[in-house]
Amino acid sequence: MDKIFFDCHLHLFNIDHIPLSLQIQRVVKILNKILPITNFIPIPIPVSTLSRLLKLMGNKSFDHIINTCDVLELSPTDLIDRLVADLNKVKKIKDYKKILLPQIIDFEVSKPTEKLLNQIVDLKNALTKSQAKLVKNKIFIYPFLGIDPERFENNTQQAAFLNNYLNLDKSKIHFGDFIGIKLYPPLGFQIYPFTEKNEFLYKYCCDHDIPVTCHCCKGGFVNPNYKKPDKDGNKRTHPDNWAKVLEKYPKLRLNLAHFGNLKTGWLKPVIDLVKKYEHVYTDVSYNFDQNKKIKKIIRLVKQDHKKKSGKYSLEDKILFGTDFSVVLFSSDSYYDYVNNSLKMCSSQFFHKISGDNALRFLGRDL
Ligand SMILES: [Zn+2]
Repeated sequence: MDKIFFDCHLHLFNIDHIPLSLQIQRVVKILNKILPITNFIPIPIPVSTLSRLLKLMGNKSFDHIINTCDVLELSPTDLIDRLVADLNKVKKIKDYKKILLPQIIDFEVSKPTEKLLNQIVDLKNALTKSQAKLVKNKIFIYPFLGIDPERFENNTQQAAFLNNYLNLDKSKIHFGDFIGIKLYPPLGFQIYPFTEKNEFLYKYCCDHDIPVTCHCCKGGFVNPNYKKPDKDGNKRTHPDNWAKVLEKYPKLRLNLAHFGNLKTGWLKPVIDLVKKYEHVYTDVSYNFDQNKKIKKIIRLVKQDHKKKSGKYSLEDKILFGTDFSVVLFSSDSYYDYVNNSLKMCSSQFFHKISGDNALRFLGRDL
């Protein structure tokens, strides 16, 4: 059998699929982080000078922002071409079968669903267009469908949407089939308390054994319509909400994405849940962008090994992911993220998180 490399969490949306209000909010947040140095400069300075100044200070943020914007302007087909080129450069996984799970995000912060439907259609078209090239390079793509159940008038409508897009037959899979669900609480999805519509979705995913990936760390894209956007977004996203859901639906296949960003107050509840439930995982997307974070995760795995507590061991519950193209805010390229991850991890650990663990999470042969 082929050796497999999985990227369990990346995105192929582009600027057309993100509402303008969210784009502005994101840019303002990032600029606020890097611009305070301009307060020390009494006269307005041109952007090019500022960029050079930041570079001199060893700050790559400005280049990263410009690069991310450039990449977000690419069409989904061009994004795919970029990934193919970058993946082919990674020598250590040259002969591997590569499986990518792009996550559609339901970005809509108000009623219309046009942008979400466009995102789905654009991705499908890009996959059809690129299929021959991808398969030739042993790259296979199976997207996760973004959804906020409260958007539907009733569960009949929700079921029709799910049935229409998802591959529910585990014995048959075609290139480009949608095989999972992506949830994004800071934009509006309510994990808990239960509503008629979110419970319908949990039950549906359990009945059809469909894996779910949920954004699970502070920050990200936040619905600007909340009273206190950041605070409310974080509260809705916190893993404690999932503890309640899993009590009732312990069989749910769930990836708590981003490892709680390794932050206090988030990391422990995430680890507790992945160690308690057979089908609960966490991914390292946007966390293997810095060596100190990779080292911390390796340390956590070693500590867990020594303790031998809980039902499942942590190293069996971690999934490799990049969060491309969003991670370009912090990484130079997709190639860089993957190649550096391979360099920093033992081959045994890397193959676990980008191979066996992913197959177990998905619960199907690919
Ligand atoms: Zn993501």
